[in-house]
Amino acid sequence: MAVIGGGFTGLWTALFLKQLQPALDVAVLEQGVVGWGASGRNAGIVSACVDHSHALAITHFGRAEAEKLARLGIQNIDEIEAFAGGCDFERTGQLHVALTEAQVEDGRRNAGIGRELGFEGYRMLSAEEVRKEIDSPLYLGGVFVPGGGIVDPIKLVDKVRCEAELLGVRFFERTRVTKLEAGRVVTAGGALTADKVILATDAYTHHLFPRLLFRYIPLYDYILVSEPLSDAQRSLIGWRNRQGVTDGRTFFNYYRLTADQRILWGTSEAMYYPPNRVDESCDHSPRHYQALRDSFRRHFPQLGALQFPFEWGGPIASTTRLTPFFGTASGGRVIYALGYTGHGIGSTRIAGKILAHMVLSRPSELLRLAMVKRQPFPYPPEPLRAAAVAAVTHSLKRVDEGHNPSTLLRILDVLGIGFSS
Ligand SMILES: Cc1cc2nc3c(=O)[nH]c(=O)nc-3n(C[C@H](O)[C@H](O)[C@H](O)COP(=O)(O)OP(=O)(O)OC[C@H]3O[C@@H](n4cnc5c(N)ncnc54)[C@H](O)[C@@H]3O)c2cc1C
Repeated sequence: MAVIGGGFTGLWTALFLKQLQPALDVAVLEQGVVGWGASGRNAGIVSACVDHSHALAITHFGRAEAEKLARLGIQNIDEIEAFAGGCDFERTGQLHVALTEAQVEDGRRNAGIGRELGFEGYRMLSAEEVRKEIDSPLYLGGVFVPGGGIVDPIKLVDKVRCEAELLGVRFFERTRVTKLEAGRVVTAGGALTADKVILATDAYTHHLFPRLLFRYIPLYDYILVSEPLSDAQRSLIGWRNRQGVTDGRTFFNYYRLTADQRILWGTSEAMYYPPNRVDESCDHSPRHYQALRDSFRRHFPQLGALQFPFEWGGPIASTTRLTPFFGTASGGRVIYALGYTGHGIGSTRIAGKILAHMVLSRPSELLRLAMVKRQPFPYPPEPLRAAAVAAVTHSLKRVDEGHNPSTLLRILDVLGIGFSS
């Protein structure tokens, strides 16, 4: 059995395959080193949401299914917490902060939906309450979202890899798969016999398997990490409860504290590089880094002198429904899951379970999820794709600035089509 891609999807899938069938020969082939893709570059905010939001899950899959996904998300985080000893995992919950009155209203609505789906812990916070948690003059309110946490993603990658190796999974790093043939996986240095192949290549998938490209779009997100905060700097913002934070815009900032007291500051102002480019030339964006520094200073003027010596970007695969999709190809020989958008830390683990059951044809409730059975609405091909992204991005940025949604966005909203990372 060949798993292509050594990110969370590939690692969890390999681990679950060996747990389900210990005698199985499982090899993970990774073009860089394990964790080279988004799994080693992300912000480490672990969401309990398998879907992008409960409201979106209701739109796409209906209320009963949204309830199922919500329960699954919490169970998944419980299991990650039990697994992730030594990975700086902290069950902090999250804060969704509001920067405009419209976002306060959205927050109230989302907290209501969360409680309706059975999460008592959703709590609406006034501006004063949220600023007691983290002191930004921009906050007008917020919602405490229970369930999730923060983690050091590299430590988690390493731990899943170690557990998989202990069970006998073999790893081939710096091994780029160049071609899939019947019964064989071809790499630059040789070939591997494999009756089934799991594509765990997320935003890179079209390099090897272009026919899936109409179901997702590769985007880049960017992050800064600060120098460690002194106690005096920390006291200027509070953040005693260390929650991962996002705000209510479509192109939101996300941020958390690291174990060594740095601020990780990211943006979901996802960048699309036409035509579907995913390569090292996209790994850095001075424009995004400058915008990140500026937005940090607007949020926390009291830390205006804080330096951010680290910066990087990474690729994400997004779908029009902002949740992953699953499937098989080549007569069932190729099995895939991708398109986690910006919520992959938690949902890749569920995808790993799903893939392992699909590969082994084992029954599981998970295989009955609508998210598994239904495919997302497709994206247009190039050159229409770039034009559509530019038009939607422009409209969404205006909404983030406080304008009303354009006709284009209202139509997409009715169709349940989103664009974000
Ligand atoms: C900047 C950034 C911030 C993010 N923040 C968060 C966050 O806070 N919370 C959250 O939940 N999610 C976050 N995400 C998303 C999350 O990281 C991803 O959804 C998740 O890591 C996807 O895992 P994956 O294993 O499917 O893909 P990847 O980790 O991208 O792994 C795919 C792997 O396949 C390998 N590969 C590709 N093609 C080949 C080939 N032909 N041969 C061999 N190997 C190949 C790649 O090198 C790569 O290592 C973020 C992502 C980014 C980029």
